[in-house]
Formats: sequence, C-alpha cells, structure tokens
Amino acid sequence: MTAKIIDGKSLAEGLRGRIAGHAQRLKSDHGITPGLAIVIVGHDPGSQVYVAQKAKQTVEMGMHSEKYELPETASEAEVLVLVQKLNADRAIHGILVQLPVPDHIDSRNIIQTIDPAKDVDCFTPASVGKLAIGLPGPISCTPLGCLMLLRDQLGDLSGLHAVVVGRSNLVGKPITQLLLRENCTVTMAHSRTRDLPFIVRQADIVIAAVGRPEMIKGDWIKLGATVIDVGINRIDAPERGPGKTRLLGDVDFASASQVAGAITPVPGGVGPMTIACLLANTITTASLINGLMPPSDLIA
Ligand code: NDP
Repeated sequence: MTAKIIDGKSLAEGLRGRIAGHAQRLKSDHGITPGLAIVIVGHDPGSQVYVAQKAKQTVEMGMHSEKYELPETASEAEVLVLVQKLNADRAIHGILVQLPVPDHIDSRNIIQTIDPAKDVDCFTPASVGKLAIGLPGPISCTPLGCLMLLRDQLGDLSGLHAVVVGRSNLVGKPITQLLLRENCTVTMAHSRTRDLPFIVRQADIVIAAVGRPEMIKGDWIKLGATVIDVGINRIDAPERGPGKTRLLGDVDFASASQVAGAITPVPGGVGPMTIACLLANTITTASLINGLMPPSDLIA
C-alpha cells in the first residue's frame, strides 16, 4: 500500500482564502481591521523564520500586523510591560509571544499576562479551560490544524481510535481535547508509555508530536491508518552543502507511507495549517471582542 499524501499547503491556502474574505467583511461591514501583534525576544533563527512568515501572511490577509523584536537581554519586566500595553491597544485583537523565550524569562508569567480575549495561541489558563469545556474562543493553532486535516481526510471521526504520542501543553493535550470533542476514543502516550509500538498499532489515527526525528516506524502503523506528523526536527544535511539543514518529522515517512492510508509530509503538512489557524484565531478574537459571532467556517 502507498499512502495518500495529505497536502497541508493546499488546505491552508483554502483556509487563507476564507480568512481574507472574513477580514474584508469585518472591515466593510463593521469598520474593524483585525490586528495581530507578534512579540519575539532574542535571535533564535527558527523563531525568526516563523515570525516573519506569520507577519507576512497577516498582511496578505488584509489584516493589521505589528512586530516587536526585543533583544536577548530584555528583562521579564520589559516583556510584561509590552504585553500589558498590547492588552490595552484597541487596534490589536491577537497577541502572540513567540516561544521559546530566553531562559531568564519565565514564559508562564508572560502567558498569564496576555488578555485571554486576545490569546490567539490558546495558551492562557482561561483559554485552555474554555477549550476543555467547549466554550467559543480561540483553539490552539497546531491542534486545530491537525483536526482540519483529519476532517478533510476522513470526514466524521466519531468512534475512531486516535493515539496521540506526546502530552505537551502546546500540542498533545489540546489535540486530545479536540479529538474527544469529535467522539474519538483517545489514547495519550508519552515518554513513560510501555510498549509504544504496540499502542500505536491499535490506532486508526496517529498524531506524532514528540520532537524525535523519525521515531515512529512503519511497522508501528496499522494498515490504512491516518498519520499526522506534527514533528519538525532540523537535521544537519552536509550533503546539501556546508551548514545546510533539512527538516524531518517524528514519523519515518519512507516506511510509514507504505502502510498508512494517508500521511502528512514534513514539511508541507501540519506546518502551513498552524500559521493559517493563527490567522483564523485572530478573526475569531476580533469578532468576539466586538460582540460578533465568529465565523463558523474557520474552525473544524
Ligand atoms: P515537547 O518537547 O514539549 O513534548 C514532547 C512530548 O513527547 C512529551 O510529552 C514527551 O513525553 C514525549 N516524548 C518524548 N520522547 C518520547 C519517547 N521516546 N516516546 C514517547 N513519547 C516521547 O514538544 P512539543 O509538543 O512542543 O512539540 C513536538 C514536536 O512538534 C516538535 O518536533 C516540535 O518542533 C513540533 N511542533 C510543530 C509544530 C507545527 O506547526 N508543525 C508546532 C508545534 C510543535 P514526556 O511528557 O513524558 O516528557
């Protein structure tokens, strides 16, 4: 069997089309230009690339974009002051502080200072709680992207067994909440899970969010399963030239694609959906802040 490759780029493009339409309507019907502020502290090269992409796509959607670049030496207090200023800024409907922040800053303090109404990453305790009990609000970007890919691929997910490998606050836990909402039976696995290959082999849906290149092998996958590879691992690639790198997922694509029914590539799978979902969340928060119902076609 050779798996269908799930094209995250093309699904993200469709979503961006809907986002641009809603941004336009918010402007023409209500005089609202959705605004996203991105804060980056330090010079992590990976983060710089993500932030540049996010800011560029915000502008392309006809939305207002602000980018704040603080030096590596910025204190926690300085970041907190900036976040508070953005909380009070009426032109801003979404605040994203790019993680990781330098070690001397406690990211939990930053996250808890973000106004939950502008929490487009769905990191604050209030947003996490809303997600858990199904109240309207932003939904964690990467998990929402995974869910949209799954629904596009499989339609109704009800009754399917999903195994989520990884239990981070960023990916594993929120995707589990979303899959439960979809009536999946969900197993969460992590570094202490015993006989992980056996557990993964039970899955109709595998979500790999581990951060270990090609850890999940083809012989762990049930024939015909749908595999969503969240992992982004940057690996040295001297064969491409000095200093060059390439991206690998958490799934061994070569072997898994011989067994799975459908699989996301890395890059080109979950990554493009994550950025599009961030922009979708900004439309959602801009609507809610202004007392409007968020558009229903932006969330899965
Ligand atoms: P974290 O490091 O926060 O979490 C990793 C999880 O994997 C932990 O729960 C850990 O278990 C588990 N784990 C680690 N080793 C093993 C193992 N050998 N067996 C089973 N479980 C294991 O990572 P994130 O969730 O933040 O990110 C995961 C991956 O997704 C990374 O590659 C990251 O770059 C990528 N990512 C991609 C995004 C995208 O847009 N495509 C967005 C966000 C992340 P334990 O809790 O027991 O330590």
